[in-house]
Amino acid sequence: MTSFATHRRKVHDGALPAHRRMSALRTCLTEFAPYGFRATFHHLRGSAGIPRNPAHDPDSLVRAVEELQAAREVWVPGILAWQEARRVQKRAGVRRPDPPAPQPRAWCPNPEFHPLGPLAEVMPRVLRAREYAGRGCPVCEADHSAVSWSDGHGVHRLCAHCGVQLGWTPQAVDDVHRRSACASRWRAVWRGDAEWERPPRA
Ligand SMILES: [Zn+2]
Repeated sequence: MTSFATHRRKVHDGALPAHRRMSALRTCLTEFAPYGFRATFHHLRGSAGIPRNPAHDPDSLVRAVEELQAAREVWVPGILAWQEARRVQKRAGVRRPDPPAPQPRAWCPNPEFHPLGPLAEVMPRVLRAREYAGRGCPVCEADHSAVSWSDGHGVHRLCAHCGVQLGWTPQAVDDVHRRSACASRWRAVWRGDAEWERPPRA
């Protein structure tokens, strides 16, 4: 938690070169990324408008880290309450946490397909996902059919509406081409070359 705060301050630090502020944003994402690192980065690049060269708009990095911080503020009170309850349980000899620790993440394996809307607005649904007992997607609760998406290692079953992973099966045949296509697509997102429209869900 302190690491997030430290690196958030670095993102804000106008005395640092833009690439170091970008690197600090990346560290914040390794600590907290509601859709996983890649999909959350893709979301922030689009929502904050981070240009290919962040030096052209360093304020975009501040917008990105503040959107991330706003989502984190939705999660932190819950985890602090859970930690306090867990301390009481441990003193009482309860070995297995009940309930389990609240997870601040809904995994979106395709970096370019994740819930839309500001992170802080989606976050309460991410936190409630584990308790969701309905038939639809645990995050958007839409009763859409799932779509398949392969990263070359396995086939992910994604919510057709928001991209959250609903299931996963290992790929019968290792698909090297698919893996390399996914890797180059991710490099384009990382560099800021990717188009922001939703890609085909192959
Ligand atoms: Zn969904």
